[in-house]
Amino acid sequence: MAKQPFQAESKRLLDLMINSIYSNREIFLRELISNASDAIDKMYYKALTDESLTFNREDYYIRIEADKENRLLKVIDTGIGMTEEELKSNLGVIAKSGSLVFKTKNEMKDGHDIIGQFGVGFYSAFMVADKVTVLTKAFGSSQAYKWESSGADGFTIEPFEKETVGTEIILKIKENAEEESYDEYLEEYRLHSIIKKHSDFIRYPIKMEVTER
Ligand code: ADP
Ligand code: MG
Repeated sequence: MAKQPFQAESKRLLDLMINSIYSNREIFLRELISNASDAIDKMYYKALTDESLTFNREDYYIRIEADKENRLLKVIDTGIGMTEEELKSNLGVIAKSGSLVFKTKNEMKDGHDIIGQFGVGFYSAFMVADKVTVLTKAFGSSQAYKWESSGADGFTIEPFEKETVGTEIILKIKENAEEESYDEYLEEYRLHSIIKKHSDFIRYPIKMEVTER
């Protein structure tokens, strides 16, 4: 399938993320959990205000799954999901929070912890993953979609089978390099401590399942 290019600015941010030697990589999880929470907020309020929808509090949660053997880390939400158009415009174009990185680039050179302080958004996943897959089904839509990208050369979108409304972000965690290990992002205790440190205020339950080899 032909790849669609990212917008120029998105590509710059993506390059920055992919080649990041940034020491605070762990914040990618905060970004994905915050997006999941935002998406659940949207669904939650729809369900609260729409009488035709049944409302069950336990239907709203975020699930983290690590599969060590296949080096996969998944962030799954029961949020509002994305249509094909939303996938294209939300994940193909730089997000407003992401542009902050450019505005504050000079401060970053001065050593301020800009990435840690502000949202860097979805693309931060590429600090720890060499491929990102998004499976999503929007509320009110019968068709689900799969978005996939291995980095700055673009992304693909294709129809996909998914029963439930919501989004599943699948990170293929990078292989360890010479002096660089990414294994920690598949370790339960480490994931727990990252969540405790950066996502403690999230209002929805965060469930975790780690599959050992
Ligand atoms: P921001 O959250 O600041 O808008 P991001 O780069 O984190 O920027 O995300 C870009 C957009 O992609 C979000 O605004 C949202 O519309 C969409 N998005 C990302 N993750 C999800 C998700 N899990 N469910 C629904 N939409 C999402
Ligand atoms: Mg975000």
